[in-house]
Amino acid sequence: MLVSGPADLFYLSGFTGDSGVLLVESSRVALFTDGRFTVQARDEAPHAKLRIVRGPLTIGVGQYLSSSRRCVAYAPSQWSVASWKVLRRAAGARLRWRAADGLVAGLRTVKAPVEVDTIREAGGIACEVMEEVIGMVRAGVMELDLAAEIGYRIRRKGASGESFEAIVAGGPRSALPHARPTSRRIGKNELVVLDLGAILRRYCSDITRTVFVGRAPTRIRRWYQAVQEAQAAARECIRPGIAAGEVDAAARRVLDRYGLARHFVHSTGHGLGLEIHEEPRLARGQERLLEAGMVVTIEPGVYVEGTGGIRIEDDILVTANGSELLTRLGRDLLEL
Ligand code: ZN
Ligand code: ZN
Repeated sequence: MLVSGPADLFYLSGFTGDSGVLLVESSRVALFTDGRFTVQARDEAPHAKLRIVRGPLTIGVGQYLSSSRRCVAYAPSQWSVASWKVLRRAAGARLRWRAADGLVAGLRTVKAPVEVDTIREAGGIACEVMEEVIGMVRAGVMELDLAAEIGYRIRRKGASGESFEAIVAGGPRSALPHARPTSRRIGKNELVVLDLGAILRRYCSDITRTVFVGRAPTRIRRWYQAVQEAQAAARECIRPGIAAGEVDAAARRVLDRYGLARHFVHSTGHGLGLEIHEEPRLARGQERLLEAGMVVTIEPGVYVEGTGGIRIEDDILVTANGSELLTRLGRDLLEL
């Protein structure tokens, strides 16, 4: 099997360089990379046979494979159309290919204790940064200023970076679930959604809180309460053996009771690990059963165009008996 996705490659070999392909055979593993990574690869992936390629990596891998008649599995989602063509041409006609997406991603869904510990620690950093940055939210502050503080503080706390570009969205922009921070200044009497995450030793965390600048009107309080209850309902049903779609349904049922289900425009959560979005997806109709050791987010939201949005997100570990919250930070409505 050829593995080229960075997360899969790290998971199987330990290599973190940004250019590499792993060839996994039944009794051996070879890591193809280029001269820039010789020392790093030897250090990080001592169990893999190192093959330093001169020239384009894909051609090097293809030429190596061309000497055999083997059947090679590959993940189509990890290859661009262009590099796939180059690989096939270099590998020649004798090789047989078998598309097999998600094999390593499947292994990655259930975390080992050391992975859980790292995500828990990354979650702790995210909580600290969230708390600090919420303390800086006030009318007149730019979304981009808050986003910059998030990035800076995450690194100052020892994380290598952000799991994704932090979302800081005030007023009507908070109704855009994936708003990019802008030079817009936070106004009085508006919602602000903050969604951030830290990467610690390759593992991601992900947390969202929504605050109100000023005193929240009744309508906003009601929306907030609905999202908070939906989030709690989804969190409470997490345990091994429950279908991912059931968790999603639990959140949706609460929002439906409030007449807000149509304003919940995304899925309830996602797996979390080496990548910010992994299996399992906690979405409508997902039959995949949760297992102890999976780490997922729970993040229902309500988005009303022109007015604003509310999302509350936490990271949860599925345990043998139920679940453990990895992002311990209050989630009652804060009026600043
Ligand atoms: Zn998030
Ligand atoms: Zn998320």
